[in-house]
Amino acid sequence: MSPETDKRRSKKLGDKNDLRIKAIENGTVIDHIIPGQALNVLNILSDGENFTNTVSVVMNAGGSRGDKDVVKIEGRELTEKEVDAISLLSPKATVSIIRDYEVVQKRHIKTPDSVCGIVKCINPNCITNSGEPIETRFAVTENEKGLALRCIFCESVMTEDLIHFIE
Ligand SMILES: [Zn+2]
Repeated sequence: MSPETDKRRSKKLGDKNDLRIKAIENGTVIDHIIPGQALNVLNILSDGENFTNTVSVVMNAGGSRGDKDVVKIEGRELTEKEVDAISLLSPKATVSIIRDYEVVQKRHIKTPDSVCGIVKCINPNCITNSGEPIETRFAVTENEKGLALRCIFCESVMTEDLIHFIE
């Protein structure tokens, strides 16, 4: 095999990898998302609107720590609220900020002790559901089933399907 062919070959292999998780110029990479949660993460980021950013999603990608989902969003960095909301779905995710193709910041998501204005209370009679301009606030704890959110206003506890309550 001539060196030329060899070069072309490795280029081709490189392209294959690029297709899987393409490098982005500026934006955010959310990695180590629990498999199956990528679309919920997108839901949080889209905030009910259509994306105008380029978004790549890889589901069930094999990694050194087992399967994971990965979301890449171009031209956008996440707000603290978005990171907190993602932490409720996927506490072990990492968020990397990319500028000019370089990772300028990578951090492990930390589940906060409380979340404000992110989750709607399950209790229809809660004061936060009464139309009053009161921001929701939940204490976050962990139990054997996973995360548990306790409303500080009405004491309602929510443990499952948190995605349905994220505002
Ligand atoms: Zn409540």
